[in-house]
Order: sequence, then C-alpha cells, then structure tokens
Amino acid sequence: MSTIASISTAPGIGGIGIIRMSGEKCFEILRKIFYPKNPYKIEEIKGYNIKYGYIKENEKIIDEVLVSFFKAPHSYTAENMCEINSHGGIVVMREILDICLKNGAELAQPGEFTKRAFLNGRMDLSQAEAVIDIINAKSNREAKEGIKQLEGFLTQEINKIKQKILDIMTNIEVSIDYPEYDVEEMQENEIKDKLTNIKEELEKLEKSFDNGKIIKEGIKTAIIGRPNAGKSSLLNAILKEDRAIVTEYEGTTRDTIEEFVNINGIPLKLIDTAGIRNTENAVEKIGIEKSKKIAKEADLSLVIIDGSKPLEKEDIEILKIVNPNKTIIILNKIDLGLIIKDENEELKDFKNKVEISALNKEGINELYNKITQMFNLNQINLDNEIIITNERHKNIIKKAINNVEKAIDSLNNNMSVDIVAISIKEVLSNLGEITGDEAGEEIINEIFARFCLGK
Ligand code: GDP
Repeated sequence: MSTIASISTAPGIGGIGIIRMSGEKCFEILRKIFYPKNPYKIEEIKGYNIKYGYIKENEKIIDEVLVSFFKAPHSYTAENMCEINSHGGIVVMREILDICLKNGAELAQPGEFTKRAFLNGRMDLSQAEAVIDIINAKSNREAKEGIKQLEGFLTQEINKIKQKILDIMTNIEVSIDYPEYDVEEMQENEIKDKLTNIKEELEKLEKSFDNGKIIKEGIKTAIIGRPNAGKSSLLNAILKEDRAIVTEYEGTTRDTIEEFVNINGIPLKLIDTAGIRNTENAVEKIGIEKSKKIAKEADLSLVIIDGSKPLEKEDIEILKIVNPNKTIIILNKIDLGLIIKDENEELKDFKNKVEISALNKEGINELYNKITQMFNLNQINLDNEIIITNERHKNIIKKAINNVEKAIDSLNNNMSVDIVAISIKEVLSNLGEITGDEAGEEIINEIFARFCLGK
C-alpha cells in the first residue's frame, strides 16, 4: 500500500504538533528528512522507540523534533509508521508535511490510518467506528461506551452469537448432505430453542440502543416558561456548573445553537437556547406556538414557573401543551417564598417537580437527580452491559432478528431444511456487516469518510 502522511493534531496553535506517516516507504522517507542527534541507522531502531533530532530540507533545519517509530505489524495501522512530534505551529507542521509529501508520501484521506488498521485486520469495523465515537464524545459516558466497543466487547458478543448460529448450521447441513437422515422431531425442537435464544440475545442488544441513543445524542431538552419565569437564569445556572459544549451549525441562524451539558455524565442537548438568550424579544420569540413545537421535539421539557406569584394565563397554557410524562415542573424563586404549591390543581398531572432558586443556584442538584431518575440512567450498568450506540448496528440487528424469525417460522411450517438454512445464513451475513467481514465497500468508505484528518 502507498505511504500516507497527514497532520494528526487539531489545526491551530498548540504546544506540540504531530505529523503521522504510515506505509512501506515510511522509513525510507524518514531517512531522507530526519537527522537524529545521535546518528542511528533507521533499520536498527526498534519499534516503540523515540529519537530526538531535526527535520531538514536542503540541509536547512526546519524544526527540532522527536520521532516515534512503530514497526509493522506493531503499530496503529499494522504498517511501518512514525509520528513526528514537532513544535505546534501550523506553519511548521505544514512544512514538515510538505517535505514528507515531496519525498514520496501521499496526503492521507480522512480516517485513512484507521481504515488501514481495519483493512490490515488490526481491528474490525465496529472497533473502527468506536474510534470516531471516542473522538466525537460529548460526555464521559459516551467516551466510556466508545472505549468498551474499541476494546472489542461488542465484537465478542457478536462473535458469540455467530458461533451459536454456526453450531446450528452444522446440525442442519448434516441433514442437507444426508437427506436420508431427515431432521428428526427432537432435533427440530432443539434448533427452534437455540434460535429463540439467539433471538432474545439480539433483542436485548437492539433494546440497549434506547439508552445508547441517549448516551450518544444527549437528552433533547427544552426550557420553557413565560417571560420572567427565570429561563435564562436557569440556563446560566446549568451552564455555569457544567462545562458546556456549544455547537453551532455553520450557515444557519443563531436559532440553531445547541448546547451540551453533562449531567451526571450524560449529555443534555439544550435546544433553542438562542431563543432563551434573546430575552428582549422573549414574548415574540417564545410564543406559545413556538413552545409547542419545541416541546414536541424534546425528550424532556423543563417547564419553569415563577412560584412566587400566582399562575398566569400563559403558565396554564404551557402546562396544557407539554406531556406530563416528559416534563419536570420547576417552581422557581424559592428565595422569594413560594405561593404556588405542589398540590396546586393545575399541576396535579405532573409527578416530577422540583423547587429551585435559579438566581442563587439552589436546588440544581435535585433537578439533576430528577433527570437521571426519569431516564433510568443510574440503572445502566456501564461496565458489564453491552450498549449499542450506533444506529447502523441497530438497523442491522433488526434485520438479523427478522431473519431469525423467518427461520423459526419455516421450522414451524415444516418447510424443508434448505429453506431454514437460507434464513440462518442471512443472519450470519447480517452480523458480518457489523464486524465488517460482510460489509460492502460503499459502506466502509462512508464510515471512514466521517473521520477527521490524521486519524
Ligand atoms: P426569562 O425571561 O424566563 O429568561 O427570565 P430571567 O431568567 O431573565 O429572569 C427574570 C427575572 O427574574 C430576572 O430579574 C431574574 O434576576 C429574576 N430571577 C430569576 N430567577 C430568580 C430566582 O430564583 N429568585 C429571584 N429572586 N429572582 C429570580
């Protein structure tokens, strides 16, 4: 395979920058551009070694660097690799990259290092996907799930199920090859039991995606309330406590700002925070129609009410449009004394209520606990349970479940074993799409295109 190079650290200024190279000619190129302080023969350098020296071009020093050597197959890509640690200036990094390219390397595509790791058999497709998840993680839970997947937990689970299917196949193939020994009643029941067990395991995985989705995408949360109820104060209190990640989509209006905050390790995706910040026009901005739309879109509505005053018409309208099961009523301004109480008639349908002072940041932890309780997040056993966080995996598992059901149906309808075998083989091929041995080139390219440069 060709030799690829790219800058692997984030674009911009940093303490150090890393230029990565991988492929057959990696060391040959290094020999031309890297001048170790203590001369070494590159062939003699062992893998996992770091050497200090200079990158030079036409005998001119470009930068003082440290170069890490990795020898095939013991590297990220399973090829000969090096990482040039330079000073973290964008000009220097570009210059070093250019020198690598001039000497025979090609510019790496996004994700190409990881793609090579996959193509060279160092990781399967689900592990490569975990790498993207770890890089993009917005909460520690999401990162932990990514690490688990990278460690191969999902692969092991899929392989366990594959093995069970292979066992059934062996059973069935005996009867296809020797039709005179028809599948006996007993054997048929046994196959059915095994298939049912496989179906249950797949369903458990499929179901775990509900939690996986929350872990990955965050709980879509809306803060709703009439003007002056305390929306922006609450937003500030939340943002102040937890380091928020603000994502703003390019080319759209400020309306689409989404802010992520970590609540007990789970990201909340706060929607329409731009509307809240824009308090001058709050009345027009967050009209009842708009609130309705936001509430509908949200997994969780935080309805904030100024509890120091009687409910107003607008409060009551808001209470009518939200779904009580997906809502937490926040009685704000406890510091002023609450006159609205829990047992208030208008609030009777809502079981989730907290009392806070957004201004003094009191009661915020109670609010967080309520959120974690509502989504059962404490019950996700991070260490032992396998959680699917990837929609692609979930869709494949769904297909696999369908095929297992088809196989069971065929058995129930006394179809010939060959027909049963077709469905069972489909399940195997479905599962192969997760690990990558059965994934088409198009899918593979699409997955790696989502990576960043240099990974
Ligand atoms: P919004 O219009 O819903 O965004 O409400 P704001 O957050 O702008 O709050 C409206 C007013 O209520 C401001 O003057 C806040 O300082 C005040 N306020 C908000 N929360 C509290 C609270 O817990 N206690 C008190 N005393 N005042 C609050």
